[in-house]
Amino acid sequence: MPSEFELIARYFVQRNEGETTGVALGAGDDCALLVPTPGQQLAVSVDTSVVDVHFPAGAPAWAVGHRALAVSLSDLAAMGAWARWCTMAVTLPEADEAWLDAFSQGFHALCREYGVALVGGDVTRGELSISVAVHGEVPVGAALCRSGGQADDIIAVTGPLGGGHGGLRAWQQGRRDLDDPLLARYLLPQPRLAAGLALRGLAHCAIDISDGLLADLSHLCDASRLGAELDMTQLPLATGLEALLGTQDARHAALCGGDDYELLFSLPASSLDEARRRLRECGVDLWPVGRLRDGAGIAGVDTRAIKGWQHFPGGSS
Ligand SMILES: [Mg+2]
Repeated sequence: MPSEFELIARYFVQRNEGETTGVALGAGDDCALLVPTPGQQLAVSVDTSVVDVHFPAGAPAWAVGHRALAVSLSDLAAMGAWARWCTMAVTLPEADEAWLDAFSQGFHALCREYGVALVGGDVTRGELSISVAVHGEVPVGAALCRSGGQADDIIAVTGPLGGGHGGLRAWQQGRRDLDDPLLARYLLPQPRLAAGLALRGLAHCAIDISDGLLADLSHLCDASRLGAELDMTQLPLATGLEALLGTQDARHAALCGGDDYELLFSLPASSLDEARRRLRECGVDLWPVGRLRDGAGIAGVDTRAIKGWQHFPGGSS
């Protein structure tokens, strides 16, 4: 096995340091030295992806690299933060250089797409898992926190739901073509960074849908000390989901399936048109799915049907 240092130098050192990335010193020393923008707060988050928990063992390595970074960037998007830097720790059973090469290509491609600099890495031996810490910036006072929701706000999402779960089911059924819209939703999620930025000053609160609409809406409601009412007829379903699962299970996947990585947010009805216009400019639609209201709990959902629904047959999020 090549040494940790050789692997890091070969696959994880990005050669894009310079003034524009805010990197005074990149990977290779004990720490990177970063230069935050005056007037901005740092938004920091970390996510770990474990083989056969968050992605299947046979997933293409480049998709694993993309996904590991995308799910972390999604948290920055949910704060209305813009991504600047990331660090990564990879644990892998052996130094499979073909796998590492493809993995790093997927990772670096997404870094380039959003102008994120990889400023540090660590490689250890063990069960395959990837931890990515992301560092973003948001102007002081502009972050989209979970706690800002107000009664009578419209609840909306930035994209169709259930695709993460549908993609897992499609994978389990043997589909392997990542052009399949459901598999793409599952393995190649797109962090909604531009959407998060566009919602600054309009949305009262936001979260990204990693655990499923119901679970993540509950987090918003708890933080905002409010309840919610969902309109099931308005739920946008991922392309191909009903064909795969049938209408009933497709709706449940949209409510309870995780890994969609769309933004869930609330805003006053008076801001709806402006939010829709701004989101369209970044290629994203706005789907209203309900309202925040005084009280507690989420109304409008047949909870008995959800209780009986098997969440992730053969897998888990
Ligand atoms: Mg999140």
